Amino acid sequence: SKTIKPLVAGNWKMNGLRSHLDVYSAIADGVTANLASKVDVMICGPATLTYALAQAGKGRAVLVGGEDCHTAVGGAHTGDVSAEMLADAGATAVIVGHSERRTDHGEADEIVKAKAEAAWRAGLIAIICVGETETERKSGNAVSVVSGQLAGSVPDGATAQNSVIAYEPVWAIGTGLTPTAVDVEEIHGEMRKVLSARFDAEGDSMRLLYGGSVKPANASELMNVANVDGALVGGASLKAADFLGIIAAYA
Ligand code: PEP
Repeated sequence: SKTIKPLVAGNWKMNGLRSHLDVYSAIADGVTANLASKVDVMICGPATLTYALAQAGKGRAVLVGGEDCHTAVGGAHTGDVSAEMLADAGATAVIVGHSERRTDHGEADEIVKAKAEAAWRAGLIAIICVGETETERKSGNAVSVVSGQLAGSVPDGATAQNSVIAYEPVWAIGTGLTPTAVDVEEIHGEMRKVLSARFDAEGDSMRLLYGGSVKPANASELMNVANVDGALVGGASLKAADFLGIIAAYA
């Protein structure tokens, strides 16, 4: 068993109408007190649902997070959502630097770092995502790309309480492909080394999630890899049975 309490976080992406709140409830019903004592569970949903998710989550063991935030508290940024707004709606965490944000919105390390600082400013946990592309992996640069992203995206002041790191190889997101356990171990081991060197004891105990095509069928194998302290789950978090199957593997 692991010394760090695992976190299994779902990322609903641009999915979920109010009718999907039933799925959240089914997940919350399935996270029994016994499971909750062994694993933290979170759903990060679209901003339109944050408040409703948090309301549905009152008194239940499934935390609620956002999927992105702006760096500013407020102002002339049409269409954006601040970390303070997410906190006000009941979120306790927010994903920053997801590869879809990096690709679709051109977000580079510098802005990801500023978003993580914005999350902390609002009292939210920052779930900071990193991960190499297929080309970068094939050219043997996965380790250096990920350590470069950590250096650029994780602000000074990161602690095990205010930050979670998610390693999500871009080529594994939504594709059904996953790295081998050996490859995950290599990256997570390197991430631990880098974070421990920079943040001392905080780096030793910061949660390192694996993300990218996590399913009930591969969850146990990934969970058993050294320095994997949980999962960030996209597609499989949209179905209660699948998500609960993954949670069970981490408990
Ligand atoms: C994600 O986008 O964070 C993710 C891991 O997606 P999926 O599980 O669908 O690959």
